[in-house]
This record gives sequence, C-alpha cells and structure tokens, in this order.
Amino acid sequence: MTGRWDAVVVGGRVAGASTALLLARAGLRVLCLDRSRRGSDTVSTHALMRAGVLQLRRWGLLDEIVAAGTPAVHRVVFHYGDDEVPVSVRPSSGVEALYAPRRTLLDRVLVDAAARAGATVRHGTRVTGLLRDAVGRVTGVRTTDRDGTARTERTALVIGADGRSSLVAAEAGAALRFAGRSATGVVYGYWAGLPADGYGWYYDRGVSAGTIPTNDGLTCVFAGGRPDRVAGLVRDVGPQGALRALAGRTSLGEGLAGAEPRGAVRHVRGTPGHLRAAAGPGWALVGDAGYWKDPLSTHGMTAALRDAELLARAVVEAPRPGPAQAASLRRYARARDDLSLPMLAVVERVAAHDWDLDGIRVLLRQMASAMTDEVDLLAGLPRAA
Ligand SMILES: Cc1cc2nc3c(=O)[nH]c(=O)nc-3n(C[C@H](O)[C@H](O)[C@H](O)COP(=O)(O)OP(=O)(O)OC[C@H]3O[C@@H](n4cnc5c(N)ncnc54)[C@H](O)[C@@H]3O)c2cc1C
Repeated sequence: MTGRWDAVVVGGRVAGASTALLLARAGLRVLCLDRSRRGSDTVSTHALMRAGVLQLRRWGLLDEIVAAGTPAVHRVVFHYGDDEVPVSVRPSSGVEALYAPRRTLLDRVLVDAAARAGATVRHGTRVTGLLRDAVGRVTGVRTTDRDGTARTERTALVIGADGRSSLVAAEAGAALRFAGRSATGVVYGYWAGLPADGYGWYYDRGVSAGTIPTNDGLTCVFAGGRPDRVAGLVRDVGPQGALRALAGRTSLGEGLAGAEPRGAVRHVRGTPGHLRAAAGPGWALVGDAGYWKDPLSTHGMTAALRDAELLARAVVEAPRPGPAQAASLRRYARARDDLSLPMLAVVERVAAHDWDLDGIRVLLRQMASAMTDEVDLLAGLPRAA
C-alpha cells in the first residue's frame, strides 16, 4: 500500500519545490510539505552559478525571475588583495548571464510552479516523523499542522528536502559519506549605492568577502572567516561592525564606506560540509538534506536545482517501490556523489582560511573545474519525458 501519493516531499524551497515540480510535471501524485510560510525569507545569500540558471531556464522559470527585476550578472571580478581579475560570463549552454534572486522570490516562483503543475503544496505543516512497514521500509510521514492537527500521509517514496538539519535524514538513518571539518563564519546584509557590476569576490589573508547584486536595487554583501574570529568580532562590534571590519581587510572596504546599509546584518556561525547517503528503502534526500557545503562555494542552491533534476529523473524512471526503483535511486546517488565529492574537497580547503593569495587562486580554479563538469552533465541530459 503506497497511499494517495507517489512521493511526499518534505521541504518546499529550492530542492523540494523543484523536485515536486518535476515529478508533478511527469504526472506523479506529489505532496510537498513545508513548515514555513510561502514566500518567506531564509538564511542565505543569493548567487546562482551557471548550472542553476540553466535549470531555471530549462524549466521555463527564468523569465519570471528576470521579470521580477533580478539584475543580470555579466561578469565576475575576483580581487586577490589589490589584484583584480575580471572574468566575463560567456553565453554558453543556453545561459547568457547569471542571476541572484532573493529567496523570497526564487522559492516562491518554484513552489508556485510546482502547485501549477499539479503538486499539492501545504505550507505551515511540520513533518514530525517517518512511518515504516514491518520490514523497515519508509512508507510515509507523520505531520502536524499549525493548528495542532496531526495526520499521517502514506506514499511510495519520502523525499527529504528539509535542509541541512534534515529530520528525514536523521530518522531514515542516512549514513554519512563525508564529514567536513572546516566552516566559515559569515556576516551578510544588504546595501544600496554599491555599483551592481556583476559578482565581486574578495580575498585576503584569513578573509573572504563578496558583493552580489540582487532585487530591489540592492547588493547583498557578505564577509567571512574562521567561525571563532567572526563570532568574536560580532560580540565586540555587532554584526554590521564585524562585516565592515572584515570587508575592510579586503579591497571591498572602501566601496562599502560610501554605501548605505539597508536592514539588519545577519551572523551565521558556520557548519562543516556533509554528504549523506542519497537514498534507501522508501526514502531519498535532495539539496542540503543530503549535501551541505560551506556557503563560500556559493553553490548550495545550484547543487539543489541540479539534484532535483537528477532525482526526479530517477523517480520518474521507476516510480513504484521495488528493485527497479532501488537501482534507479542508486544511479542518482552515484551521479550526485561523483559531482559533489570533488567540490566538497576543495570547498573544505577554501573554508579553512589558511591559504595565501596564490593558494586561493589555485583552489578557485579547482572549484571552477568541478562546476564545469556539472554544467556539462546537465547540458547533456536528454529532454525530460
Ligand atoms: C549564509 C549562507 C549563505 C549562502 N549563500 C549561498 C549563495 O550565495 N548561493 C547558493 O547557491 N547557496 C548559498 N547558500 C546555501 C543555500 O542557502 C542552500 O544550499 C539552499 O537553501 C538549499 O536549499 P534546500 O531546499 O535544500 O534547503 P532549505 O533552503 O534549507 O529548505 C528546507 C526547507 O525545509 C523545511 N523543513 C525543514 N524541516 C522540516 C520539517 N520537519 N517539516 C516541514 N518542513 C521542514 C524548512 O522550513 C525549509 O523551508 C548559503 C547558505 C548560507 C547559510
């Protein structure tokens, strides 16, 4: 018995809404649950890389993101100390520019598209546990609505898209395939009056910073370093003082002095990367739930969009429980791991903040190479059925 649903997706943001969208478009009966509110913000900066933009375009959602006033990013400027290296975003794989939409926009566009495609979407619903059959296969979820109503939902597959502290991963017992040790403490906020000329990445000994043009004429500015150092600064001079102090260690400092902060600066302590088993009997993970990497990769959303595509294809190929589905999910796991492990290894070294300015250039080249492999794989996929 698999109940009303072919898949129950826990989490309705980048990973979950995209997976629900693709499964619903393929005609599957999908329930997507999220405890948060539709269109609410979340803790994240916004830079999408080429593979992420490619996915949004392929799914027919890029126009909506652009129409909402998301500025096109045509170049990326790397600042190593005082040395500036501009790189143009060359049109390729159907991607002419990069974009950095606010999460209030991106997550809403994705989840609305999932609902339009036929997925049942319920916000304000928390998943509190998994159901299992006599042999231990996951067969559904227990939920609680905001008004306290408890329900159960039975399904052929539970998909955990519930972020890096995933309840689905924990309850399913997803084995850890990689556990990182380094993390970046980050402070970020929004500024008006900064030139919105593409992504700006800034590096100096022990500090990374960046500028990301986003919606409403604002630029998202972040700075990071070792977690204890960033936390110490936040304690001493507050989050905005910490951001100014860290950015001031790079060539971003001057530009920031003349710009106007809008709203509060947030502090994120930093969590080392992980890769968890991608699937097991009756369950699968997508997005941060299975694969979390330090935000200095600016790659979490792009990877979530990628893995939504790979997982949805695997499920559509074999939607019913059984050996064919197990084999299909194993192929998804292999593809995700092959693309993710090289990235995790290099991001681990970037987040350690023990590099010098020559070292960080080498690491960023390795990161770019991992991203190229990802774009090549996605661009080469046949059209979905
Ligand atoms: C400081 C910072 C900066 C970042 N900057 C970037 C960047 O510039 N570019 C980039 O690509 N990535 C960035 N990331 C990473 C990016 O935010 C994540 O990779 C991305 O949000 C992953 O999406 P997701 O859908 O997997 O998870 P999430 O966005 O975490 O969504 C999970 C959803 O699941 C819901 N949920 C959780 N548990 C339950 C439950 N039990 N029941 C119901 N719902 C539940 C949550 O409410 C949430 O809505 C950054 C992250 C941080 C922390």
